[in-house]
Amino acid sequence: MVQLQIELPTIQNWNCHNCSGCCKQHGIFITEEEQRRIETQGWEASGELPQGIEPIVKVGRKKVRLAQQPDGACIFLDDQGLCRIHGKFGEAAKPLACRIYPYAFHPKGDGITVSLRFSCPSVTQNLGKSLVRQKKDIREIAELVVPKNREETPPPKLTGQTQLDWEETLEIVNRLDLSMEDEATPITLKLLRTLFWLNLIEQTNYQNIRGERLAELLDLLVEATPAEVPSIPEAVAPAKVALMQFRLLAGQYARKDTFASMDTSFRGRFRQLKAAARLSSGKGALPQLHPDLGEVSVSALEGSFGPVPDEAEELLTRYFRVKIQGMHFCGPAYYDTSLIEGFQALVLTYPITLWLARWRAVTQKRTSITPEDIREALQIVDHQHGYSQVFGTWSSKKRVTTIAHSGNLEKLLTWYAQ
Ligand code: SF4
Repeated sequence: MVQLQIELPTIQNWNCHNCSGCCKQHGIFITEEEQRRIETQGWEASGELPQGIEPIVKVGRKKVRLAQQPDGACIFLDDQGLCRIHGKFGEAAKPLACRIYPYAFHPKGDGITVSLRFSCPSVTQNLGKSLVRQKKDIREIAELVVPKNREETPPPKLTGQTQLDWEETLEIVNRLDLSMEDEATPITLKLLRTLFWLNLIEQTNYQNIRGERLAELLDLLVEATPAEVPSIPEAVAPAKVALMQFRLLAGQYARKDTFASMDTSFRGRFRQLKAAARLSSGKGALPQLHPDLGEVSVSALEGSFGPVPDEAEELLTRYFRVKIQGMHFCGPAYYDTSLIEGFQALVLTYPITLWLARWRAVTQKRTSITPEDIREALQIVDHQHGYSQVFGTWSSKKRVTTIAHSGNLEKLLTWYAQ
């Protein structure tokens, strides 16, 4: 049998540190086979699970998920923060979704590339062994989830209806990664420069620029960009309408939405509508949408909070590089979005992370952000990015392209990085 070609991010370490965060944040959908397996494990008769909750819940007509405790934790999470299924029957007895997290596997040419979810604190802190040293174990998990017809998966479109082949698409992905590589350049400037050359690529007519000519054009653009964008320009306020769209998107990222914590009552929905009205108007107090983000006024998140702390640069650079190398921003990994639109959505997570970091700082009565604020905010953002159904809707995608095509993405970057 041909071995699965698997590419790992060389800059990332990870091992599970049993923080149990993933078992408290995610609703775990299971297959029929997993349902049968769990039912034969005899949990209900054992009396080991919290009483009064059916361990498996039907969602609609076809889906099934594990039940959650009142605080949102999985029904199988014990008081020590450990998985009861794992403890009693071993790792392989758990649902596949639990075994995969925080990995994400995506097609890349004739192989598979691996990304990680930065909602996991061990990922953001780069804790554990190098992924490269764990290749055998990661390949085993990948083989459980990668579809047999993966080699037939076409690359994501470049933009609109423009379809390049895998080789050409990967030329662009490699240049995106290269643009993020330099550790001496601040992340804000790296993102501004990348957007600059990608905007030019978006406007290019590809009828005659294919193959080697595309590679030459990319080299030329990437090399010339630092002279065109030599430094971070002075912050200019984004247009009001862009700020409104931005806050609405940011509010969606801030929502803590495990099934157990979702309030679908009339009161709950009214609260959500009120929050949306305040986010869009930019006036009044934001309600508490997340345990770390308290009731603060929208205007308190504006103004200067100081530059992005140097200590956060490594994390932010690693985040973008892992997402780029792992193709975790476009195509099947991001609501079938084209490469350019997906990258714009990924870049938008930067000012959103900084905005949520400000929100966390203001909640704690501070007027500057710390590396910890950024780390916590990034965990919130990446819990949702590419996974919350909201961001795959037409209106959310449209908000991102409207912000990007009006020149406001660059403004948001500099506005919230000051
Ligand atoms: S089944 Fe186990 S690993 Fe999966 S969410 Fe529940 S407690 Fe966590």
